[in-house]
Amino acid sequence: MALTRRGFLERLGAVGGYGAVYLGMEAMGLLNAPPASAEPFELPRGAGRGRKVVILGAGISGLVAAYELKRAGWDVTVLEARDRVAGRVWTIRGGDRIVQNGRPDQVCGFAEGHYLNAGAARLPSQHHAILGYARRLNVPLEVMVNSNRSAKWDFGGRVHHDRQMVNDVRGQISSLLAKAIDRGALDQELRGGDKTAMREFLGFYGELARNGDYVPQGRSGYAEDPGGYTQTGRALPPLTMAELMANRGAGLPLVFEEFFDQQTPMMQPVGGMDRIAHALYEQVRPSVRLNSPVTAIRRRGNGVRIEHGPGNQALEADHCICTLPLNLLQRIPNDFSPAKQAAIRDIPYLASLKVGFEAPRFWEEEGIYGGLGWTDQPNENLIYPSGGWNSPRGVLVGAYVAGWTGDHIEQFQAMSHEQRFQVCRDVIERMHPGKSRLLANPITVAWGLTPWSEGVGPVHADFGQEARGARYAELMKPEGPIVFAGEHLSYVLYWQEGAALSAHAALRVLMSQAAA
Ligand SMILES: Cc1cc2nc3c(=O)[nH]c(=O)nc-3n(C[C@H](O)[C@H](O)[C@H](O)COP(=O)(O)OP(=O)(O)OC[C@H]3O[C@@H](n4cnc5c(N)ncnc54)[C@H](O)[C@@H]3O)c2cc1C
Repeated sequence: MALTRRGFLERLGAVGGYGAVYLGMEAMGLLNAPPASAEPFELPRGAGRGRKVVILGAGISGLVAAYELKRAGWDVTVLEARDRVAGRVWTIRGGDRIVQNGRPDQVCGFAEGHYLNAGAARLPSQHHAILGYARRLNVPLEVMVNSNRSAKWDFGGRVHHDRQMVNDVRGQISSLLAKAIDRGALDQELRGGDKTAMREFLGFYGELARNGDYVPQGRSGYAEDPGGYTQTGRALPPLTMAELMANRGAGLPLVFEEFFDQQTPMMQPVGGMDRIAHALYEQVRPSVRLNSPVTAIRRRGNGVRIEHGPGNQALEADHCICTLPLNLLQRIPNDFSPAKQAAIRDIPYLASLKVGFEAPRFWEEEGIYGGLGWTDQPNENLIYPSGGWNSPRGVLVGAYVAGWTGDHIEQFQAMSHEQRFQVCRDVIERMHPGKSRLLANPITVAWGLTPWSEGVGPVHADFGQEARGARYAELMKPEGPIVFAGEHLSYVLYWQEGAALSAHAALRVLMSQAAA
């Protein structure tokens, strides 16, 4: 008897499980190849045949899953606890209420058109999946200026421009190397022509004089700018190696823009990061139930029964995609296997904080158009707005505490809102003397205190970038008709890209289940 496609997949599933079915479907052209390429993800049209799927959570992961399943003909319901979609993508605008556990509520006082991206704020140009949704759904993008030579660093109580730090470090290291070469100290390593070529290269690379001294010519900035007629300009004198190395925290800003996912150019949606999530939401809006927190995840026959608020309702479906962050999922009663319950338990989530002020754009008058300022104070980073250039006012991020330059998160989170604002004002005053009085309408978000998130993402040895172990393998496994997604099930942690790609991976598993 001839074997039908479905029959073949069922037999494959019986022998090799969902993984084999998935590979079989891929070989038969029923699924796209995994998105190692920039090809848009797409499920086979009509694959759903009206089957019911319930998706837990309307963050990027849940919205991507809902969008793709709807297009493929599935009957989709999304349950979302908040009164909004997008989860950790949270763009706060004037009039929005900011609720934090154990803290007084704030109401954002920004004028129309201004916003703070309290969560996700930048998109690497290599994040093809999330940028692909922006392209497909016509979400306008603009460049997000991630690094700016005119922005400032405030380390060890001294303020310098980024350009001086970057160029003086390069110059002083080049000088040391050149002098070592001239003394013959590297003759073992560099021979003949290599030695001459390296010495010539260092001269240009590091702005070196013939004797190997670093003599800045202007790359690091000017004590007196070049100008009209006879104004030649006077380059800044170099910072010494001792001054440059005084604060070890300053090493991070020097290489920050070289990390793969921080390299220029970065992108952002025009009008706020939540524009991509909202474009997805527009495609599935009737399927999304807001204010519907999941209270229990149960198995019923071959399907699922999801209990949820308001009013302890229940929803039954053939399949479920659970995108809830692990730190929250562990508290929801469920019928998961003991192995799954153990894997979910006790995974700490990184806290992170932001502070935003509305202000006249005094930084642009100093030539700072976008980019990051760095400090060794608990507020860690300033972020200047990347858009609306030269308009009267903008939103200055006065703190982005990601834990990069010290262990500031707990200290900053423990502060009152006013104390956090004051730390930011002091640093901004040092960087921009006389301007902190212009900072208005402050708001602050601590992700550790944010309901329905309670953190940024998992910080745990089992979530390292190297091949992950048994716990991660367990987290990826479906529980019967329940498959799992969310940024935590990706190697692109703390990024929307990871959330989108985890949804794609979960959909492949779901497709293989449905086909088997
Ligand atoms: C401070 C910060 C900075 C970041 N910076 C960037 C950046 O620059 N660029 C970038 O791309 N990414 C960034 N990220 C990461 C990015 O925002 C996340 O990785 C991504 O949004 C996670 O999506 P998700 O769908 O996996 O999870 P979530 O967005 O957390 O979605 C889960 C959803 O489940 C809901 N939920 C929770 N409990 C329940 C329940 N019981 N019942 C029903 N629903 C529930 C939540 O409300 C939420 O909507 C940042 C995140 C933070 C917090």
